[in-house]
Amino acid sequence: MLRRREFLIVAPVVLLAGRAFAQSVDKIDVIASFSIIADLVKQVGGDRVQVTALVGENSDAHVYQPRPSDVARIGKAKLVVINGLGFENWADRLVRSAKFKGEGLVASRGVKALRVRNAIDPHAWQDPENVKIYVANIRDALIKVDASGASTYQANAAAYLAEIDKLDKEIKAAWADIPKEQRRVITSHDAFTYYADAYDVLFFSPQGVSTESEPSARDVAALVRQIKKENIKAVFIENMSSRRLIDSIASETGAKIGGTLYSDALGGDVKTWLDMMRHNTRLLTSSLK
Ligand code: ZN
Repeated sequence: MLRRREFLIVAPVVLLAGRAFAQSVDKIDVIASFSIIADLVKQVGGDRVQVTALVGENSDAHVYQPRPSDVARIGKAKLVVINGLGFENWADRLVRSAKFKGEGLVASRGVKALRVRNAIDPHAWQDPENVKIYVANIRDALIKVDASGASTYQANAAAYLAEIDKLDKEIKAAWADIPKEQRRVITSHDAFTYYADAYDVLFFSPQGVSTESEPSARDVAALVRQIKKENIKAVFIENMSSRRLIDSIASETGAKIGGTLYSDALGGDVKTWLDMMRHNTRLLTSSLK
């Protein structure tokens, strides 16, 4: 008799556990083109979404070669989120070959694109004001594919937008005591036009807005002359680019290597977009003082 009573008590617990398992399986499957977009989707989607980044940590999305497994992953997704502005030129073909029938989002939609050396800079996520637009776009797309989560997505987005405003104030405060003429930075490629515009910093690089092509010897020589003439003190490596070029520029000019900036991918201790913005700001302002 005692056994039967025990069974009666245990049975509802098993049923509840079964239901919790079913919910975790039913998460909204989202594919993000690269790690920074994946983080923004996680911030807004929270526990309701399962996000996969096609281009992983410390990897270069400009030159990514999609794999057959990516086609299969996209085929199962409810939502695919890319940056746009010409950042992932491989994404269109990939989505087409997956015969993707779900919702697609260009997260940068509505952002004012900036140009550098006559090319559109796709790295719009380097300005917090733009990321607020990304977050609103992601929130609306998640509501479209999962209407029953609307209140969760709205609450998560509102809390995250407040965090972004806080970050923006922090970055402005960090730059406040650095004189304008010292705000000059060398990086591998033109990935910081939006950060430069938002916080009044000048960035120079030997490579253009993409890492697809090697800079010419003439461009590198011009940059070396500029560093010497303007007495620029620090050059920076990027976490997803080769450091070879920056090493040679440092040795030719005597500028010191200021450290590693995160431009196009998260990685290591830099686990989120907020981490990335804080890391870059701390590194830049401490090196330029
Ligand atoms: Zn880039």
